[in-house]
Amino acid sequence: MSEFDIAIVGGGLVGASLAVRLKRSALKVVLIEAAAPPLSLPSWDERCIALNDASQRILASFGVWDALRPDAEAILATHISEKGRFGSTRFDAAEAGLDALGYNVPLRAIGAALSAAMTQAANLRLIQPARVVALTEEADAVSLGIDDGSNLRARLVIAADGAQSSVRALLGIAAVTRDYQQHAIVSAVRLSRPHQGVAYERFTPDGPMALIPKPDDAASLVWTVPSEDVESMMVLSDDGYREAAQQVFGGRLGRFTALGARRSWPLARVVSETLTAPRCVLIGNAAQSLHPVAAQGFNLGLRDVANLAERVATAADPGDGRLLDDYAASRRSDRERVAGFTDLLVRAFSNRTPGLAQARHWGLVAASLTPPIRDALLRQHLGHLGLPADAAGVSP
Ligand SMILES: Cc1cc2nc3c(=O)[nH]c(=O)nc-3n(C[C@H](O)[C@H](O)[C@H](O)COP(=O)(O)OP(=O)(O)OC[C@H]3O[C@@H](n4cnc5c(N)ncnc54)[C@H](O)[C@@H]3O)c2cc1C
Repeated sequence: MSEFDIAIVGGGLVGASLAVRLKRSALKVVLIEAAAPPLSLPSWDERCIALNDASQRILASFGVWDALRPDAEAILATHISEKGRFGSTRFDAAEAGLDALGYNVPLRAIGAALSAAMTQAANLRLIQPARVVALTEEADAVSLGIDDGSNLRARLVIAADGAQSSVRALLGIAAVTRDYQQHAIVSAVRLSRPHQGVAYERFTPDGPMALIPKPDDAASLVWTVPSEDVESMMVLSDDGYREAAQQVFGGRLGRFTALGARRSWPLARVVSETLTAPRCVLIGNAAQSLHPVAAQGFNLGLRDVANLAERVATAADPGDGRLLDDYAASRRSDRERVAGFTDLLVRAFSNRTPGLAQARHWGLVAASLTPPIRDALLRQHLGHLGLPADAAGVSP
């Protein structure tokens, strides 16, 4: 049996980021990932993820940002509006004293940068494809069973195995699930007018639509629709879907001139009831999986990574119960605020109740005109609330 200080279960964006961060420590780390490495090539319509300013700083402090920058499109402003109403609000990078509010980066590029960084690490073993199927608590370690019949032991198990976390289930930790009865359809569009780095969030009673800038005046289009409509929208012709999306978005960016491949995801909020068990901790989507409306999921997961890594990297015993309790307590407000805000956005805007329409309107006006509200929203948007001290010079 192999012995490790830390076993990370799940090598998605969150688990792989943590593995890269821990290669700077003296800890012996193993990462177990169920899927074979993806093979994808650059394309104009490849799937992207919007990173906020805090995530950019965290990835820079992990040493991977330089590899991502050539593929990243800067988000210079965010414009938020509601279809059929005049209220809107806009946040600009200049107002925050920054070059960019964040960056839209291809998942392929993040995956490639993290994989390259992992292969350079002497203290890291990667077991892939392999699935963790059993977990046994011991006095000073946790034993993990892998689906090839092998076992390993670690002083700390970090579950980064996604919304349907099998480690969470093996530990008997419950999660509260809210099915939004919505799907996100993700594609890319080419625009007839330059986007000038502006990201758009447009709310409709059926669900929000986001347009996030990509290079060469294309944009990632994330359209949230009621689940009962998703099948019929996925079988629409490209022209039919493009026209339908254009109707909802309007003409701010001219015409959508081409549409990329479409993929759809069912949307649910899954929040773990607790983050820790003896010598185990949950992070990323295994801890909280959110609606993509505010593009917060990976951004929040990366703050889990940065905060946890800061604590375990120099600990005498990374699985120490007090250390894990302190970590969980330190993450409470960031998690609750982001999960609560995201849920509020979905429920307040995907709703036809007349009184709520007025409240939404005044909410957008307040976000535009009331400095303390504006400042709090901007800091949340940037991810600065919840950023650990060692992630590059932002006062939390
Ligand atoms: C449509 C959409 C758009 C989004 N856009 C954004 C955005 O713009 N910005 C943002 O911040 N977030 C966004 N998100 C959220 C973001 O994608 C997730 O928060 C993030 O990918 C979660 O990463 P993770 O590593 O925690 O989980 P996952 O990506 O689910 O990774 C879990 C990994 O664990 C592995 N695994 C599972 N079980 C086992 C096991 N038993 N043994 C070993 N390995 C296992 C899986 O193979 C997988 O690789 C979006 C989400 C959606 C659905």
